[in-house]
Parts: sequence; C-alpha cells; structure tokens
Amino acid sequence: MACKDKNDLPVGQNWRRVYEVTGGEWRKEGAAWRNDVFAYNLSISCNHCEDPICAHHCPTQALLKREDGIVKVDRNRCIGCKYCAWVCPYGAPQFDPVTGVMGKCDLCADYIDQGKNPSCVDACPMRVLDVGDYDHLVQKYGAPEHVHPMPDSSLTQPSIVVRSHPKAGGSSPVVANIEEVDDA
Ligand code: SF4
Ligand code: SF4
Ligand code: SF4
Repeated sequence: MACKDKNDLPVGQNWRRVYEVTGGEWRKEGAAWRNDVFAYNLSISCNHCEDPICAHHCPTQALLKREDGIVKVDRNRCIGCKYCAWVCPYGAPQFDPVTGVMGKCDLCADYIDQGKNPSCVDACPMRVLDVGDYDHLVQKYGAPEHVHPMPDSSLTQPSIVVRSHPKAGGSSPVVANIEEVDDA
C-alpha cells in the first residue's frame, strides 16, 4: 500500500505484491492427529535482475538498467507493446490501460538518488524489507535460496536475497499452494 501511495497507482496496479503460501497436511497417527502445516508470505516486486530479460526484449529501449543496477521504464519511449510483461518471469511490469504505457517498480529511484530508502522498505512494520548493494545484502543475510513459487533464478539472475521460511524451499522441494494475492 505504501508503494501504491508513493506512485499514485490505481486499483489493479500493484508494483509490489504479497503472496500468501500455505502447505502441509494433517495425519492420523494412532489416536493422535499430527500436522506439518505451514504458511509464509512473500513480498515481491521487480528484482532489478542482473540479466533483465525485459530490457532485452523491449523494442524501443524504454527499459534500461542504470549504472547502479536499477531497471527503469522510460515512459516517454514506451509504446505499450507489453513484450516486457510477457517475458518477465516475475510478473513485474504492469500495463496501465489509461496512460497506455508500462509501469513497474523502479526501486523508488528518486528516493535512492536522495539517499533515502524506498517507501515499501520504510513502511514495513516488521522491518522485513531491506535495500542496498547486492553483495552487502548477501553478506548480511546469506546466499540466496530458492523460495516457492519463485522461478528458477538462472532465468534472469534476480538481484534479491530472501531469508526464507524453513518450509519455503532451499534444497528440499515444497508442496504448497498460493492461497492469496493482495490485489488491491
Ligand atoms: S523482475 Fe522482470 S521486470 Fe524486473 S528486471 Fe527482472 S525481468 Fe525485468
Ligand atoms: S511495453 Fe514499453 S517498456 Fe515494455 S517492452 Fe513495450 S515499449 Fe518496452
Ligand atoms: S521500491 Fe518503491 S516502487 Fe518498488 S515496490 Fe517499493 S515502494 Fe514500490
């Protein structure tokens, strides 16, 4: 909601989405019922990928990766073809039918340029979100792990580190459902 507020996004445009993932089961063991049910939330926006497939497929170079790694849409160059939305495995680019151009998380580049945190980072009441140099984040939180339902990171090399829930992936496969997407 902080992202929507900062970027004045209309209903249906959510540059940051929160996915609720649940899984596990109840089992009867003798007279007892045991369970390994779990739930976790995954807050995802654009990952400002090291290998941004969105930019590679943009026919007008409206999507560009800045020196500091931020991948931005130049709204003046965008022709609204939606190629970037089709190829991004994270669903990050979102077309605005009113303006006819694509929008997506720009890591609050204007705030970054002023030395400030992105809106979503400062708004998180649990201090779950963080931002910074990728290598520094890896040092701070450890090597990135695969988290269900994120796509294989080899596709675009996302610049994101998730300290995952114990049931969220790592080396063991997860059987889980996406129960809810915050689609305000
Ligand atoms: S998450 Fe999608 S839109 Fe963002 S840089 Fe990666 S490929 Fe591009
Ligand atoms: S919708 Fe805009 S930003 Fe996306 S690929 Fe087409 S021209 Fe590029
Ligand atoms: S960094 Fe800024 S644009 Fe990106 S999700 Fe957070 S608030 Fe939205």
